Amino acid sequence: MGFGVSGIVQRFAEHGYQINPDAASLITQYGATDEVIRGIIESLDESVLVVGPDHINAIKKEEKQKAPDVKILKDITNISTCVGNYEEFVCYFRDRYSRLSEMIRWRINAGPIEALGKKRDEKEVNIVGIVSDVSTTSKGNKLLSVEDTTGECQVLLLKDRDVIDCNIILDEVIGISGQLTHDGLFIANMITYPDIPYSNKSKTSQLPASVILTSDIHIGSKTFLEDSFRQFIKWINQDLPGEKQRKVASNVSYMVIAGDIIDGIGIYPNQEKELDILDVYEQYERAAEYLAEIPNHIQIIISPGNHDVVRQAEPQPAISEEVGKYFGKNVTFVGNPSLIELSGVKILIYHGRSLEDFFTAIPGVSYKKPDMAMAEMIKRRHLSPVYGGHVSIAPERNDHFIIDTIPDILHCGHIHTVGISKYRGVTLVNSGTWQDQTEYQKKLNIQPMPCYAPVVDLQTMGVSVLHFN
Ligand code: ZN
Ligand code: FE
Repeated sequence: MGFGVSGIVQRFAEHGYQINPDAASLITQYGATDEVIRGIIESLDESVLVVGPDHINAIKKEEKQKAPDVKILKDITNISTCVGNYEEFVCYFRDRYSRLSEMIRWRINAGPIEALGKKRDEKEVNIVGIVSDVSTTSKGNKLLSVEDTTGECQVLLLKDRDVIDCNIILDEVIGISGQLTHDGLFIANMITYPDIPYSNKSKTSQLPASVILTSDIHIGSKTFLEDSFRQFIKWINQDLPGEKQRKVASNVSYMVIAGDIIDGIGIYPNQEKELDILDVYEQYERAAEYLAEIPNHIQIIISPGNHDVVRQAEPQPAISEEVGKYFGKNVTFVGNPSLIELSGVKILIYHGRSLEDFFTAIPGVSYKKPDMAMAEMIKRRHLSPVYGGHVSIAPERNDHFIIDTIPDILHCGHIHTVGISKYRGVTLVNSGTWQDQTEYQKKLNIQPMPCYAPVVDLQTMGVSVLHFN
């Protein structure tokens, strides 16, 4: 808790300064903690006798010019263990099972699958397993194969019970409650997901700060919307008219790019025909030129996507230092996925290739509402459950897709549409794209939503979406 106006006046008096009440109330807006007050007193010129609002504004403005820090909490870069053998695959799934099943065991009291045979007369039986198969029977019921470290069993979801509406994704870890029939068939009543608590609340920043969330810029492509991106850069430099616009821009301290900063080369057949710059290094150089026009008190965090030049198997390490040297000092490169902290707010960044698996597996969830699929990730505490789907998963010793720390923001891209919502206190943002519809998207009838920039106010967690054209 910060000091009130009278407390602030007293603290300044102890250091031999008088303070005007307007200045004191201005300090309360910055969260008048001991640290903030000490910082202000230390920056005051000795000639000052009465501290006024101008002094406070000058100090705070100067502080803002200094780049705020970026904390990297989790990142695969430089810690990959994967070489690609069978043992690693076993190890990877053991880790996934043990960490997610532990979360589920907080909610249900489950026994091993191996012991199921002894439980035929019990009222309720609980297990936690990884889903190895999902099928629909000729009668319209759902049949699951579920495994844990002790064995495997079949589970039936009857079509006339509510449980049939639970969406089950291959390779995810779930809790199942139900009964065993006399002939040993497991009939499910309820599915438990690892999920996050209803009461989960987001952390916020003590000081004014906002973050621009963006992705899928696709520099190097003919369909990169350069003029709109230039408008965006004008806006961030507070060179566009409109007081309100400028105010939003002036509060920005960070920008996160969730992958596909360039279009790359050889990503899909005949891509060359749609490229403006045919060399990936030149594409990155151009990207660096654009980002150099962003004021350097703004910290830029870049995570890779499937169009970037890093290994395609996920988790992906950060874009290499060789490319990094084109960019300014205010740019930090992290892996995909990664967890960072900005002004006390945790942001989980994931490009979002697995979103396509969620669209396939869950009825009603599509590219038009990418944030709905992102809520499903949080519910499963996992960014990419399906093995052998759209994502080629490198079996690392630890499952880097598990969401064990609850983020305040989950930021994805890849889908090229904008989706923003909240799920149990977590702000979900899919940040769209700066690329117009490609030939490939035309064939699939996918309508992108280019040139939107979601900005999250880290003090309020409110999201404003700006559009540039
Ligand atoms: Zn993209
Ligand atoms: Fe992508």
